[in-house]
Amino acid sequence: MKFEKRELLLIVGVLFVMIGMMSVLAPAYALVIAVLIYFGIRVFVGRRKKQIQREIGQGICATCGAKIMDNKCPQCDSA
Ligand SMILES: [Zn+2]
Repeated sequence: MKFEKRELLLIVGVLFVMIGMMSVLAPAYALVIAVLIYFGIRVFVGRRKKQIQREIGQGICATCGAKIMDNKCPQCDSA
């Protein structure tokens, strides 16, 4: 739900940029540039999301709260 809202904001933002560009560029060029910006941002956000997931995806230890590494808690499972 949260992601969809952001997606909508992105589309609206790109649309405004496209309308702005249409005043100085041919509409076809403005459309192409707007689509490139849209997919560029999608790729950028996707990469960042993956990076964040890699960092926090394994979660934290329920016992001590340390970050889980390789499915093990570095503090509780080190023995
Ligand atoms: Zn732990």
